[in-house]
Amino acid sequence: MIWKTLSAWYRAHGRDLPWRRTDDPYRIAVSEFMLQQTQVDRVVPLYRAFLKKYPSWKALAAAPQADVVRAWKGLGYNMRAVRLRKLAEGVVADFGGRLPADEDALLKLYGIGPYTARALRVFAFRQRALAPDTNLRRVLTRVFKGPKADPKAFDARTWARWESTLPETLSYDVNQGLMDLGATVCKAGRPRCFECPVSRFCASFPKIMTMKELPRQKAARTEHVDAAGVPDRIHRGRVIEALRSGSVALGKFAGLARVLASLEKDGLIKRRGDRVLLA
Ligand code: SF4
Repeated sequence: MIWKTLSAWYRAHGRDLPWRRTDDPYRIAVSEFMLQQTQVDRVVPLYRAFLKKYPSWKALAAAPQADVVRAWKGLGYNMRAVRLRKLAEGVVADFGGRLPADEDALLKLYGIGPYTARALRVFAFRQRALAPDTNLRRVLTRVFKGPKADPKAFDARTWARWESTLPETLSYDVNQGLMDLGATVCKAGRPRCFECPVSRFCASFPKIMTMKELPRQKAARTEHVDAAGVPDRIHRGRVIEALRSGSVALGKFAGLARVLASLEKDGLIKRRGDRVLLA
């Protein structure tokens, strides 16, 4: 059956990644935050350096936020550093420095949403669940619903039904295997079905290989851009980058009032007189 096949494929072909060599929930949580919006290859060296600096929930909770944002350099989307540090504060204050394994308790912690809660249950605590990340949604939608089904249309009841057929002992390997399959074989653009270990179970095979257009996985971004077409996200990253080495005169950020206001609102920066610095 499909779960056994996926698990065996992962055992034989899964990528060797540092967060797959640990069962420490802290290290696994750090990887989950980093992987949310950053490619695996980029994360690996930065993950190792971050853990050297902050080896535990306690170390991270005790660190000044500005230092953690500095250590996030190279990963982008700096709010994740703020969220991760706040999560560490919650784990230390409310759970004595041990991440809870229960989904309801996880969801009450700062910075943990439905995807991360499920991912932590699977990867940190080896529970039965399917973490609904982009790759898993795409692969499972293709496998169970066919080539025209929209992976964006998340249906919690259907997802729960798929989960209920997954043996708990295979949960970890299946989730990791689906991540790898989505990243290397069942890609968004053009799936490589002839290399796929689960093609015989797949409702999209072989039709998907001859389809001209596949359902789009990403909704169009509705992001604010400046007159040159540069989105706020890029400006936010540039401001934080400039502040990593110290405070900067407010005047250097002329024309970025809205970006500064949003960073201030998010608690990433603060103003001191006519200077701006990391919060
Ligand atoms: Fe994806 Fe093709 Fe494999 Fe189906 S057979 S899971 S569409 S790669």
